[in-house]
Amino acid sequence: MSRVYNFSAGPSMLPESVLSRAAEEMLDCNGTGQSVLEMSHRSKAFEPIIYGAMEKFRKVMNIPDNYKIIFCQGGASTQFSAIPLNFMNGSNKADYVLSGQFSTKAYKEACKYGDVKAVASSKEQNFSCIPELDKSEFRPDADYFYICQNNTIYGTRFATLPDTGNVPLVADVSSCFLSEPMDVSKYGVIYGGAQKNVAPAGLTVVIVREDLLGHERDITPVMLNLKTLADNDSMYNTPPCYPIYICGLVLDWIESIGGLEAMKARNEKKAGILYDFIDSSNMFNNPVKKSDRSMMNVTFVTESDELNAKFVKEAADAGFVNLKGHRSVGGMRASIYNAMPIEGVEKLVDFMGKFEKNN
Ligand SMILES: *Cc1c(COP(=O)(O)O)cnc(C)c1O
Repeated sequence: MSRVYNFSAGPSMLPESVLSRAAEEMLDCNGTGQSVLEMSHRSKAFEPIIYGAMEKFRKVMNIPDNYKIIFCQGGASTQFSAIPLNFMNGSNKADYVLSGQFSTKAYKEACKYGDVKAVASSKEQNFSCIPELDKSEFRPDADYFYICQNNTIYGTRFATLPDTGNVPLVADVSSCFLSEPMDVSKYGVIYGGAQKNVAPAGLTVVIVREDLLGHERDITPVMLNLKTLADNDSMYNTPPCYPIYICGLVLDWIESIGGLEAMKARNEKKAGILYDFIDSSNMFNNPVKKSDRSMMNVTFVTESDELNAKFVKEAADAGFVNLKGHRSVGGMRASIYNAMPIEGVEKLVDFMGKFEKNN
């Protein structure tokens, strides 16, 4: 068996030890004589899996008791609608920062429901930076303030959080979930699709301050009603059982290497290796403002589309796959989520160096 280094933006690599353990437990999980794939979500066998995953999430992220953890389906994109339906419920105003494609989609969706303001945008800069924020643009009576914390497609991230005062901060962390410690108490809502850093596709995780729940609009579809999901321990209906199980294994793995502090150190090291190489290269360039560089998604280009295509192809032949940039921006992108080993980045940089010499 030989495995490639997979730089996909999502779904993406999972830790090899997690996959091995899932394989071992495929036919018989915990002596139940069943695969998790076959288990009723209402069964005794499944209880430790879902409650265990929630508990571990709370422990690893240090989530305060007044926050609920919700496991649901529909991907991050479903939350683009769930967020205004659940939280745009006082002044019917919400402020959004447009820092890329996903926040723009979230903004457009929210516009259907109320008075939504784009308080800043980096569209003019092709989203190569996080826009400058002018606090006088923030509305103190907004029901919430929305950001996409790590911009998967452009390779930028908020290095510091906006100061929104008493207005709850809502953050899409799909592509930086569990990559470093976060002060959860600074947020009203943290959410993300699991398929980048947490689990396989099919699971969405929402972390929400309890007092924000229960004020949803009457028209909120029951499956988007976060209070209903929370009150039913994420089992109002059938939850994504298998991704929840893998999420638990991923959290075990994070704990085994020393938790989120250790994860951050590893991720900083990987990103450092790649950015340092790019900065010293005469062929590859990172188009992002330095202070806003993502630790998870590293974008880079050469001088021509032809050379980019040649690089992507030769890299794939050498076992470094999914390095093509998002279809909307071109170039290259190496997504180096938690599961990418340091060695994978070292070998990629090695390969890039050889490619530069030969071309
Ligand atoms: C991938 C991604 C999404 C979309 O996620 P889906 O689960 O496919 O809906 C949204 N936001 C960010 C930041 C992402 O990286």
